[in-house]
Amino acid sequence: MQQTIDNAYPTIPVARRLRTRLTAYFVLLTVGVIGIVTTFTLIQVRNQSMQQTFHQLESIAQLKQNQITRWVHEGERTLNLIIADPEIIDESMSVLADNPSAKAIQDTLNNEFRYSIEAQAEGESIFNELIFYNRDGRVVAGSNAASINKVVTLQPYFEPSLRAGYVTPPYYEIVTGELTMFVTHPVQNSDGETIGAIGGRLNIDVLREVTAERAGLGETGETYLVSIENNYLLTPSRFEGYSMQRAYRSEGIDSVLQAQNSFGIYNNYAGTPVLGVYRWIPELQAGLMTEISEAEAQVIITQTSTLIIGLVVVLALVAGVLGFYAATNISRPIVRLSQVAAQVAGGNLSERAHITERSEIGLLAKTFNQMTDQLVSSINELDHRVEELNQTNDALRVATAKAKEAARVKGEFLANVSHELRTPLNAIIGFSDMLLMGMSGELSPKQRHKMERLRENGVRLLTLINNVLDITRIEARRIEIITKPFSPRALADRLSAQMTVLAEQKNLDFKTTIDSQLPEMLVGDEHRIEQVVVNLLSNAFKFTDSGAVTLNIEVNPNQHTWDIVVTDSGIGIPPHALNVIFEEFRQVDGSSARAYKGSGLGLAITRNLVRIMDGQIAVDSELGQGSTFTVTFPLVVNMEELEKVSA
Ligand code: ADP
Repeated sequence: MQQTIDNAYPTIPVARRLRTRLTAYFVLLTVGVIGIVTTFTLIQVRNQSMQQTFHQLESIAQLKQNQITRWVHEGERTLNLIIADPEIIDESMSVLADNPSAKAIQDTLNNEFRYSIEAQAEGESIFNELIFYNRDGRVVAGSNAASINKVVTLQPYFEPSLRAGYVTPPYYEIVTGELTMFVTHPVQNSDGETIGAIGGRLNIDVLREVTAERAGLGETGETYLVSIENNYLLTPSRFEGYSMQRAYRSEGIDSVLQAQNSFGIYNNYAGTPVLGVYRWIPELQAGLMTEISEAEAQVIITQTSTLIIGLVVVLALVAGVLGFYAATNISRPIVRLSQVAAQVAGGNLSERAHITERSEIGLLAKTFNQMTDQLVSSINELDHRVEELNQTNDALRVATAKAKEAARVKGEFLANVSHELRTPLNAIIGFSDMLLMGMSGELSPKQRHKMERLRENGVRLLTLINNVLDITRIEARRIEIITKPFSPRALADRLSAQMTVLAEQKNLDFKTTIDSQLPEMLVGDEHRIEQVVVNLLSNAFKFTDSGAVTLNIEVNPNQHTWDIVVTDSGIGIPPHALNVIFEEFRQVDGSSARAYKGSGLGLAITRNLVRIMDGQIAVDSELGQGSTFTVTFPLVVNMEELEKVSA
């Protein structure tokens, strides 16, 4: 149960992370797309807005330029009209040019001039003053009495005015310091001689009015004229502290005074960054500047940007909320499923995912439930199997205990019976020996034969009983192994002496070979080793009718072992019987074994003895060719080594 609780929690943060991630992807995607579109739009808006501002400034500049040139031309036209009046030219001016003190003529002309100005004043007053001066530059007539008799030779228009119609660019009059602009025209007499010139002082206020008109120029826009003469302003700055008779410079002013018409963004004369459009007006020898501060021009951009960014933020928020909602919807069943999975993993197999969605997640939940059902049924089946196995185990344990007990009883019984049988058998054999030796008088051949059969069967029975006793002792682990140093060569000599009799009886060759490397002394139970070899050699002679039997003793120093190899050229053992022959009471073929006699216990005893002495036994045989039995023991040459081997 503890495990269930531990496992249930880790899935929740994982699922929350899933939801957070989904929301983040959603918002990022939306904001990303909106962001790109917005950036693009903002750049477009900025460019267009700038362009629009420049266009607007351009049209304002154009309009003002038109107004100014029209005004100048109007001045010229008006002056031409006055000069075209024959009365004035032919009579008045001619006379006055020669005789400036002709008072009546002068008065007439003065009146005429005043009248001209007043006539215009009804409409729009082009001139403030009209003057007529002779070739010496003396004003001989004029609309303003104060000007009469003044000398204008130093005025910038004087020289050019005697040659042709001329418009002086605005200039500051030396005496009065006033901004002045004259339109002049030479006057000729009937002989075509230039007798003087007529000049009209233009009403400069018109220029101020034109530039002061700020329609379409917003809060910071202004239009002004800069003269090429000393870079003075011809119209006042709309800002305080910038007097007109001072040199002004800016990127725009510098360009326009080189007679360029263009536009740009630059710092104006006051150091404010502006968007400006400028026009060169040749009649005034001045530049018309139309400027608006960059800050104001950008207000609209800033406003639009703010609006768009605000919109983006709102959209991002909406996307966030929608994304969160969608992510929650998507992740909720996954969260539930993972919680159920954790519960199941923790051992709560009754838990199921209740997700009805018709989506992949629904399918997943269904499959998960099926999987859990399958798991439950598998576990139930396993439990059932385990139960069955436990029962079988219990039964087996009981049966084993019973079998062990039975074996023990059998062993005990056999040991007792064998012991009981040996005593009378020894007596039978002993008495038959005595009878055969003639101790009770000579036996007839018939009697001797029967007595010999009696003795032979007695010996066989005793051997069988001894074997049974041995195997019973071995099984009951009641056999004792006495290990001590012995001479393997002496053992081999003894065995070959014993067996030579048997070999001679059956007319078989018998050879014993001993490895020269075999140590003089080995450690082991000499008596039991002898029992093993006697068993093997007895079988070899028993199952061999012709040929030879050999006994080899070999050493394998590398493996630290020594071998006893018994080979015969007898009947051989069929492959299927090779393992079986080591089992108790087993013979290759009951009937043939009977022919050779024996009980089927010899090899069983042999193998058990070999194993008890830490050795191994192997057999190699071919039917009709012969058999080889190899017994391998560890090579132990002294008692200390024995302890090591046993350890
Ligand atoms: P037995 O008393 O019958 O010899 P063993 O246990 O010694 O019992 O041998 C079991 C059987 O193995 C024998 O009956 C025989 O069939 C077979 N056997 C053992 N040694 C040989 C051998 N050297 N050649 C052929 N068969 C053999």
